[in-house]
Amino acid sequence: MKFSGGNEDKNLEKRFSWTSEAEASLKKVPFFVRKRAKKSVEQYVIDKVKNKDNLEVVSEKRVNFIRSYVVTIDDVKAAKDRFISNMSKNIRGYQADRCFGASGCPNSANSCESVLERSEKLLEQADILSFLKHSVKEDLKYHHEFRLSCSDCPNCCSQPQIKDFGIIGAVLPAISDEPCSQCQACVNACPDSCISIPDNCVTINKYDELTLIGEKSVEEKPVIDFSSCLMCGKCIKVCPTGTICEERRGFRVQLGGRLGRHPRLAIEIDRLLSEDEAIEVLKNVIAFYKKNSKNGERFAKIFNKSNLSNIIK
Ligand code: SF4
Ligand code: SF4
Ligand code: SF4
Repeated sequence: MKFSGGNEDKNLEKRFSWTSEAEASLKKVPFFVRKRAKKSVEQYVIDKVKNKDNLEVVSEKRVNFIRSYVVTIDDVKAAKDRFISNMSKNIRGYQADRCFGASGCPNSANSCESVLERSEKLLEQADILSFLKHSVKEDLKYHHEFRLSCSDCPNCCSQPQIKDFGIIGAVLPAISDEPCSQCQACVNACPDSCISIPDNCVTINKYDELTLIGEKSVEEKPVIDFSSCLMCGKCIKVCPTGTICEERRGFRVQLGGRLGRHPRLAIEIDRLLSEDEAIEVLKNVIAFYKKNSKNGERFAKIFNKSNLSNIIK
């Protein structure tokens, strides 16, 4: 049976078996773009087969066709060549990605799904592609594109620290009034050793300014060192009594990270932002970038700490 595309294409279940050589070559691709690279090689194989017009349906039902494809190392190389030669056609002015938190990662602190969607919309509206076409004197390349990345937790699998705009899902812990059972679960769960439980934590409840005498009581509650806390929320998840609770959810935002000849980690805004605030900062970043970038300079190249006050208003 000949493949005719259209609705048939939609109903077609495609199965790919990668040769061990092809699979080994895919493993060399950095993991955060591996999924995309895999998809693009498989699309290459589909296109190749389509062009040869020698399609063979392995099994067929009325609305569910299954077709098998073999992916070889030659396909990987050819897909890479195609990718490079199509590069300027595929450039859209920005790259936006996220970690795999949405696929059920247990570490997710706060989902970036909605903030990423809004960020992409904003980048699209800002028409960064036209801006780049106008300002870059040579052919556009991927390295000219504005990069944004979101991670659902401080493990930062999508590497927001080296992007122009990085967003990290976060949850700020707090100590509630609920009594602590001293189980130590939070202490053990914190990857950054931020929590301690003093044996005899003495607090002064009332303080008389004339006599300088305070009424003391012993409170055995955990103490969080917020200067090292990355807001991953692990302590909240394990606390059986609710003594450690959620203060609020939000996003840590980092600006101006880059790799290349002069790599630099992004500079973090020193407070937890709401989704609306993060989007507002992105608006200001885009405005700053369009105003100051010349001949394709990345935001990360032109931004430094002294520009923060122009961006966070
Ligand atoms: S960044 Fe966190 S939530 Fe996202 S995939 Fe990595 S560990 Fe999971
Ligand atoms: S939220 Fe902070 S204190 Fe709690 S486990 Fe994470 S880093 Fe530690
Ligand atoms: S705060 Fe919660 S997890 Fe930590 S020791 Fe107390 S009861 Fe256990």
